[in-house]
Amino acid sequence: MSSDRWQTPAHEALRARPGFDLAGLDHDATPGWEGDRDQGEERMAERGEDLLALQEKLYAHGRTGGTRAVLLVLQGLDTAGKGGIVRHVVGMVDPQGVALRSFGVPTPEEREHDYLWRIRNALPRPGYLGVFDRSHYEDVLVVRVEEIVPPDVWGARYDEINAFEAEVAAAGTAIVKVALMVSPAEQALRLRERLERPDKHWKYNPGDLDVRARRPAYEEAYQAVLDRTSTDVAPWHVVPADRKWYARLAVTELLAHTLEGLDLAWPPADFDVAAELARLDAQG
Ligand code: AMP
Ligand code: MG
Repeated sequence: MSSDRWQTPAHEALRARPGFDLAGLDHDATPGWEGDRDQGEERMAERGEDLLALQEKLYAHGRTGGTRAVLLVLQGLDTAGKGGIVRHVVGMVDPQGVALRSFGVPTPEEREHDYLWRIRNALPRPGYLGVFDRSHYEDVLVVRVEEIVPPDVWGARYDEINAFEAEVAAAGTAIVKVALMVSPAEQALRLRERLERPDKHWKYNPGDLDVRARRPAYEEAYQAVLDRTSTDVAPWHVVPADRKWYARLAVTELLAHTLEGLDLAWPPADFDVAAELARLDAQG
């Protein structure tokens, strides 16, 4: 029996359409999925095998002159589970074909350039699965909330980002944007764990509590991102993240679906297969 218990496909159930209201999100929900956790984990393992094969095909495509790539953009507040997605979802494919980049506070060198400079430099080459742990969206999220640049500057960025992503998509890269959304209560639990466990202290930053205190402003900034940058070529998917198993299952499904949509074939041999087999046989 198939383990597929998606009642509504993930890319439909999670897509941020016009009028989507972040304030009404149930962070504990499992949109589109009608199974329990065990079933979700079973499905994720199964789709992980698909993902592995699909990503190998993408890599082979890139190695043989193809132009397609995939870019997973991960956004979310502290503790939303971005690192867990990288480890558990992206970790199911061959690291050779993954191009992972994390974006933190811009370095002095990065600050000398336009905010998209470091992003352009990190775009996946053909055949790669690119992963952005945070992204150019920080330039309309933290930058907006903390007033790092004036409103007219960040205000112009939504259209700039849409134009940029349209250009990236037109060049052959399928963009999968995921906003992981954790509830304030679950976030408090996860931050507490980071404080109570010495092996998690390295993940904690006292500034995380200042950001948490400004949650309403961050929600407003996220709402603006969803309103203004969920385009047809690069739609946003809002993933409730209180249940880690669900968030990981959902992103696995979004990636597998996207790779299937590329409809790639294994590259044909550029040599005479029968002749090579005959040579091998002759070698005994
Ligand atoms: P982490 O993901 O926990 O390593 O934290 C990275 C930090 O870098 C977060 O606090 C982000 O808000 C911050 N950050 C990322 N991009 C930018 C940016 N463009 N401007 C300012 N801060 C940023
Ligand atoms: Mg952090």
